Amino acid sequence: MSGRKTRGEIRKRSKKKKVLPFVLILCALVLGTGVYAGQMFFFDKPETKKVTKSEPKQTTESTKKEAASTKPKTEESEQAAWIESETPILFPTLMYHHIATDPTGSGNTLFVTKEEFADQMKALKEAGYYTLNTDEALRVLTENKKPAEKIVWITMDDGYANHYDTAFPILQEYGLKATINLIMDPERISQNLPEERVLEMKNAGIDFQSHTVNHLDLSSLSDEQIHEELAQSKEALDTLLNQDTKLLCYPAGRFDERVEAEAEKVGYKLAVTTNPGFSGKEDGMYSLTRVRMLPGVSGEQLLSSLGN
Ligand SMILES: [Zn+2]
Repeated sequence: MSGRKTRGEIRKRSKKKKVLPFVLILCALVLGTGVYAGQMFFFDKPETKKVTKSEPKQTTESTKKEAASTKPKTEESEQAAWIESETPILFPTLMYHHIATDPTGSGNTLFVTKEEFADQMKALKEAGYYTLNTDEALRVLTENKKPAEKIVWITMDDGYANHYDTAFPILQEYGLKATINLIMDPERISQNLPEERVLEMKNAGIDFQSHTVNHLDLSSLSDEQIHEELAQSKEALDTLLNQDTKLLCYPAGRFDERVEAEAEKVGYKLAVTTNPGFSGKEDGMYSLTRVRMLPGVSGEQLLSSLGN
């Protein structure tokens, strides 16, 4: 008897145990629905009203942005909401060379000082700029979408020791990306930016693209020489960094139709010049313009030149 009773009690208890989670789930559902409805009513309503007044397109944009902001921070760059634009997107591609004080002593203006660079990076960060890499710049140009309201592409030509010593720590401090267009001559690389430094920077989010092998005026070369300069530098970068190198930077900005055609044939998806202006698809994917960075420009002056 007592044995049966015990079994009965056990059964009753286990029934209670089985019922309890259902009750809890039900409560949670009821509460959840209430909270959700409350949120819809109290918080979403004014926003919906605001959105209804403006273009319907912005509804999608703000929804996308909200969705992205709830995701973990580590996924933020990959999951960033890309906003489609109704008008062709134009964005500044900054062209830097040396980050040092007149390093050649030749009096040319292909440098900005460490202090100016730091001030400019700080200003871009504080103004809310999103720094593109090559893949992202390509996507902006081909899809006419952007990952943030303010975008900028920081490019640094040639590959100098000061790109590692001076620019890299500043970029890291502000969490900004940049693209270094590297001259692939092995001797030059070992003197300026040894491979282990290139790999270290690449692992930290710095992008490396081609500035040919010997930095020659491509428009003055034979078709065969053009092919060698473009193909060999791409292959070397593809191998070194295990990537598909997509960008070509013309040495001294010199190029012609033969160079553009060869760039496409070799597998580059876009090319930058030294011609001035914001970058846009209308210039042509193989003749993109850039903003030349001269010495003596403060962060504030840079921002205002970019339309802030
Ligand atoms: Zn160059």
